[in-house]
Amino acid sequence: MESRSQILETAHAVREAGANALRGGVFKPRTSPYSFQGLGEEGLEYLAEAREQTGMPIVVEIMSQTQLELMLNYVDVFQVGARNMQNFNLLRALGETRKTVLLKRGLSATIEELLMSAEYLLAGGNKQVILCERGIRTFETSTRNTTDINAIPVLKHLTHLPVILDPSHATGHADYVAAIARAAIAAGADGLMVEVHPDPAHAVSDGKQSLKPEKFAEMVKQVKAIAEVMGRRIAPIRKSVAVGW
Ligand code: PEP
Ligand code: MN
Repeated sequence: MESRSQILETAHAVREAGANALRGGVFKPRTSPYSFQGLGEEGLEYLAEAREQTGMPIVVEIMSQTQLELMLNYVDVFQVGARNMQNFNLLRALGETRKTVLLKRGLSATIEELLMSAEYLLAGGNKQVILCERGIRTFETSTRNTTDINAIPVLKHLTHLPVILDPSHATGHADYVAAIARAAIAAGADGLMVEVHPDPAHAVSDGKQSLKPEKFAEMVKQVKAIAEVMGRRIAPIRKSVAVGW
């Protein structure tokens, strides 16, 4: 997220299209230290406002335990990014909380390693864990990462935890996002996390893989239809999200 107006506009657009949670990064793990690093606490305020206006719970990436105390006041779901999947101190700290954790698969992590990282959260008594496949590093360079569709049925077989896919980081290209989102739902995924921006060409992070709101709405229609074939449906928003644990 970049600004108050950008996140509020995006929040309303995705809500209208059928999204049931809002993900915004305020502490961004950028490859270069000179790239935009996120708005920090100011960004958390804007996300809280977006939640207030739309009813969507907010999902925010945490990069370090030093951010935990501040973020506990705002977020509904902690995202642990690919780069921190094996930050065991961070996982232990989140395992002590009772907030949902969205754990992304590491850039080159095996499924077993992902599950062992989830175990760090569960061992601390936090049972609210969502697993997220986001593509893995392979020799292929046509896409940012290679979507491991196999991981979805494998994870569903090995664990009771919900499994979602992030087709934005998995492909790195807005043009391919909807196809892989459809494939994920057909493969049994419980949800999707998709990057959306009102003006992707001018986004300060990941614009190439961000969908315009109208493309997102089109994608939601398609995945809804596939979900139905699979005997699933997109869940409504639960308004009663507890904040401030
Ligand atoms: C993100 O979700 O914006 C992100 C940085 O993803 P990942 O950790 O999967 O690279
Ligand atoms: Mn991103």
